[in-house]
Amino acid sequence: MLKMILNEIRLIFHIEAIGPILIKDGETDEERKIRKEREEGQSSPDMRFVVDTNNRIFIPGSSIRGVWRSWCEKIARTISEGVPLACDPFSDSESCSKRLEKQSPDKVYALSCPICKLFGNTSQGSRIRISDAYIIGADINRRNLPIRDGIGIDRFTGGASSGAKFRYQYLTGKIFKTEVYIRNFELWQLGLLGYLFRDFEEELVPIGFGKTRGLGKIKGTVEDTNIAFYGLNQPKVNETNKKAQILGIGHLYKDADKDNYSFATEPPLEDIEFSSAIKTAINTTITLTGKQVKDVLTKVANYWAAGKDAGYYIVAQGSRNKILGVKRDA
Ligand SMILES: [Zn+2]
Repeated sequence: MLKMILNEIRLIFHIEAIGPILIKDGETDEERKIRKEREEGQSSPDMRFVVDTNNRIFIPGSSIRGVWRSWCEKIARTISEGVPLACDPFSDSESCSKRLEKQSPDKVYALSCPICKLFGNTSQGSRIRISDAYIIGADINRRNLPIRDGIGIDRFTGGASSGAKFRYQYLTGKIFKTEVYIRNFELWQLGLLGYLFRDFEEELVPIGFGKTRGLGKIKGTVEDTNIAFYGLNQPKVNETNKKAQILGIGHLYKDADKDNYSFATEPPLEDIEFSSAIKTAINTTITLTGKQVKDVLTKVANYWAAGKDAGYYIVAQGSRNKILGVKRDA
C-alpha cells in the first residue's frame, strides 16, 4: 500500500463501562491451575481482567479493533441486500486474504472487500491504528476488582456444564481512553465509521467476555478530532468562516499508478465547521470539537449509505467469476 500519507484523521475515543465488563487476560488453563494452587484458600477468580506489563488494567487496542471490525461487517451486511460487501475473514475460500494471496501487491487494495480496505487482511496492512485504552483518572489495582460467580460454559457444546462454577472479575463505571489514527482514508470509509460510532453512542456495541450473560455493555464516544492533509493537493480552508473541505484520498492521490488502487472519486465534503486550523504550503490540519465532530460524522455517513449505488466501493473482482460488491449472477 501507499508509502506516503496524504490524509490522516486522529481522534480520541472514550469507552465507558456502563455495566460490568471483563476483558480477559491471556492466561492458559495450565497457568490458571498453577496460580489457583498457589493462591489456594484466597478465593481468587478464575478469570481475571487483562493488565499490561506494568500491571495496569487496560483494553488492548487490538481487541478494540476486533470489535470495530466485526461490527462494521455487521453494518455492511445490513445494507448488502444479497451483495456480499464483507468477506468472511475466517473462511478458507471466501476471505479476501485467501482470494488475494497470489495477487500482485499493487492490486490487493483495489480487489479487497470494503471491510478489508479499511481494516486490512493478511495481504495488506490496516488503515486504522488504535492505541491501548487506559482508565481516565486513578488506576485501580486488579486485586481490588469485584468478583462474581458464574456458571461454567461447556467448551464443546457452549451450554452450561453441570455444576462447574467459576468466578470472574469485572469492572464497571470507568471510562477508558484511546487514540485512533486512520490513514489515507476514503470518505465512504469515514462514513462507515460514522455508522459504527452512532451504534457505539446508542450503547449497541458490546465488548469483551460474557455478552450473552449481559456483560460488556459500553458507551463509545468520539471526542476531539484532528484531520490532516499532506502534499500538494490541499483542501480549501476558510479561516475567517472556520469552514473547510474534507477530501478523501481519491482526490489527493494523483500519481500515475492511481488506477491500481481504484480510489473512489467522491465529491469533497463541503463547509465542515472546525475550531482551529494550522496551514502551511503542504500541510493543513483542522481540529474539530464537540458538536462539530458529530456533524461531520453525520454528513460523511451518507458516503457509506450512498456508496454502494454510487460505486465508491463496488469492485468487480476475483477468479472463478466471483464478484464482490456486485450482485452475483444466479
Ligand atoms: Zn475482505
